[in-house]
Formats: sequence, structure tokens, C-alpha cells
Amino acid sequence: IKENALKLAKEPAVTQDGLRVEVVANIGNVEGAIKSLAFGAEGVGLLRTEFLYLERNNLPSEEEQCTAYRAIFEPFGSMPVVLRTLDIGGDKELPYMDMPKEMNPFLGLRALRLCLANPDLFKTQLRAALRAAVGRNVKIMFPMVATLSEIRLAKLALEECRQELSAEGKSFADDIEVGIMVEIPAAAVSADRLAREVDFFSIGTNDLSQYTMAADRTNSAVAGLTNAFQPAVLRLIHQVIQAAHAHGKWVGMCGELAGEPLAAPLLVGMGLDEFSMSAPMIPVIKQILRGLNAAEMKELVEEVLDLDSPEEIQELVKQRVPQAD
Ligand code: PEP
Ligand code: MG
Repeated sequence: IKENALKLAKEPAVTQDGLRVEVVANIGNVEGAIKSLAFGAEGVGLLRTEFLYLERNNLPSEEEQCTAYRAIFEPFGSMPVVLRTLDIGGDKELPYMDMPKEMNPFLGLRALRLCLANPDLFKTQLRAALRAAVGRNVKIMFPMVATLSEIRLAKLALEECRQELSAEGKSFADDIEVGIMVEIPAAAVSADRLAREVDFFSIGTNDLSQYTMAADRTNSAVAGLTNAFQPAVLRLIHQVIQAAHAHGKWVGMCGELAGEPLAAPLLVGMGLDEFSMSAPMIPVIKQILRGLNAAEMKELVEEVLDLDSPEEIQELVKQRVPQAD
């Protein structure tokens, strides 16, 4: 499978019953962009923008960001690129930003929360993204959303940026799709409400598992709990996909589970529209997808959602889909 996978890396992934599945990359800089295309990425499902802020001693300006984003968008031409706004806090700190010490950084003022509390920081990034997106197929995504009001505030900030840019006579992409990461259980549970406010979801299984299972993703002693094959996590994922589709919205996944061979059959069966992963996994996952029958996988999902442990679930998938093992 490995050899064939590499040969067919740049071919699309179409299942046995004709379902075309989008396979895209998680990247964090220009080198990652080039590499992902070599592995057959059909675009970017997660552009982590933290790289612009880390390893320096002041905030990047709008111009600096604009130049950096353009350089990353360029090699993708008209392919979709999902830019995620700053996800700092948690285990990632900015030494030059005076962030208060927190007892539980993963439960603190991180990502979108930090951006909403610092409008200048947030709007500088949004303005740069809107400007760099001209002529490209760029989408903006907010991380760590827990509530509807956070989405509304984030969209309001984006709208202010559009108006400012327009008043300044600067060109920007004004029809950009806006989505959120679903990586907090509150967002997953309320997905049917949140779906009305956005154009798409991307499921972040790394954080969704950590918060659902109350198990630190960086603590190997609880790695069994943060496993995204936990029935509770799979149920949430299934629910989120159904909620999005009920509202006519597409759903991707950019957490590690999207690049997990044994998960591919289940995610196809659940109807996931876009799989985003680290570049080297792209050819492998595409090849597994090509061997699947999506309608059969839908039935497998029904069976899996009735099981009680990650081990049982993984065992059943191995039995039914040996090529994913
Ligand atoms: C996730 O939480 O699944 C995710 C993709 O985001 P990050 O790993 O950057 O927190
Ligand atoms: Mg996350």
C-alpha cells in the first residue's frame, strides 16, 4: 500500500462507490507549504499562524504578516487554504506579551479568548489575512470557540476590519468563508446552534479529546484517556458532522485523528468532507480512502457507536478493513 500510495500521491481520493474526499495539509510555514504539495495536498485545512509570533521579541506588524501569508498562499494557487487565527496560550507562551500566570493555562485565556481580550492584536492579524487573501481561495478559522457570542464577537471584529480597509482604500478579500474549530465539548454539544453562524467547522480532535476526557494531552500518564477513539469522543464527532450537514455546512477535521489510518473508515462513514493532516500521511490516507465503500462504512459506524472502549472499536475496524491496519 505504501509504494502505490506514493505513486498516486497527487491523484484525488475517490472511494469505491464514487465519493470524492478532500485531503489537505496541516502546515505552519512556507517550507511546510512546499512539502505538503509534494505529498499531494489539495490545499490547507489548518495553517497554524503561531510561527509568526514565536521566536521573536515583539509582535509582527500587519505588513510583516501580510507578506508572510502571501508567501504561503502563493504555491497553492486557487486551492483552499484555511488560515487559523492566533492560538497562543495553553502550553505556548509569548515571552514579550505580558500574559498573567495561570494555574491551568489550557483552561485559561488562550487562543480566541486572548484575541478577543486584545482587539489590536486580533485585528492586526485579521487585516493582514484579508489583504493577503486577495485573489486566493482563503478561509478564516477561529480556534477554541466555546460559545455563540464568541463567534459573533469574532465576526464583528472581522467586519470592522473590512470596513476600515475599505475606508482606507486598501484591497482585500471581502467574500471570505468564516469557520470555527470545534475542539471544546461545549461547541460540539451546541454544534447545531453554532452551525448557523459559520460557513464550516473543522474538528480539532487533539483538544476535543483532552477536554472531553479531562486528560492533559501533554501528559503521557493519561494518554489512554486522550485517545480520540474513546467512544465519547467519537460520538461527539459524529454529532458535530450531522449538525453541520443538517445546516448545509461542510465539516473538516484537522486534529491528529484525521491522519490516523484506522480512523479513516469511520470518518468517511460519518460523512467527513475534508481530512487535514501532516503532509507525509496524505498519500497513505488517500490510498486507504480509495479502497473504501462509503455506504458500507456508514453501517460500520452504527456498529462502532455501540461499542464501549477504544480497544474494541479499533479491533472491529481492523477486522472489517484490514488495509487500514
Ligand atoms: C486540535 O486541537 O486538534 C488542533 C488541531 O489544534 P492544536 O493541535 O493546534 O491545538
Ligand atoms: Mg487545538
